[in-house]
Parts: sequence; C-alpha cells; structure tokens
Amino acid sequence: MSKNKNRQCHKCPNCNKNKAEIDPVFGIILCKKCQDESKKVEINRTHEFTSSSIKGERKEYAASMLQPWVNGVLSKEYIEAYGTSKLEGVTKKDIKNAKYVYKDLPRHHKIGDSRK
Ligand SMILES: [Zn+2]
Repeated sequence: MSKNKNRQCHKCPNCNKNKAEIDPVFGIILCKKCQDESKKVEINRTHEFTSSSIKGERKEYAASMLQPWVNGVLSKEYIEAYGTSKLEGVTKKDIKNAKYVYKDLPRHHKIGDSRK
C-alpha cells in the first residue's frame, strides 16, 4: 500500500512542489508548469541564437577563424592573407605542405581572395 502511495506522490523534480507528470516513455517528468517554463526558455534561447548573436558571432568568427595552423596543417588561406612573415618557426616544409584547410567553409576563400 505504501508503495502505491509513493508512486502517486512523485513531486516534480524541478520545483519539488507540483505533482510530476508521468510520461509513458520517460517516466517521471517535470510538472506542467515547469514544462511550460522550460519551453519558454527554449524558445527565448533559440530566438536569441538565430537573431542577434549569430550575426555578431559570425563577424568575429570570420576574422579570428583564419588561423595559421589547423589540426597541425599550415593554412594556405592564412599564408595568402597574411604571408608567412608573422609565422614563427614555420619551415619551408611546412609551407610546402600547406593546404587550403578552410576550403569547406565557403566564406573563407574570399579572405585570401581580396583584391590588392
Ligand atoms: Zn515543477
């Protein structure tokens, strides 16, 4: 009997106040109120993410993305954009082995492409 009682008294794991919902798949889940709350948060987050922050982030991303070394490979894009003079300890062999490491990112070849 006490078992049965326990089963019906599950509290929401989030607010610990309301009765938890029982999901046929997940078992005990948050109460309705908390579910609504978390949905709201989710929507807000998604919204922020897709609007303002991505635009801001992308700019920085593009500028800082061009790294001389990517996974141990010297970036040809970097060499084309900045030359090798800034690179310390880079060898001729490294330069020879340089690859277009950003070629999969369509934004990037444009950087080295800038007209002079
Ligand atoms: Zn709750």
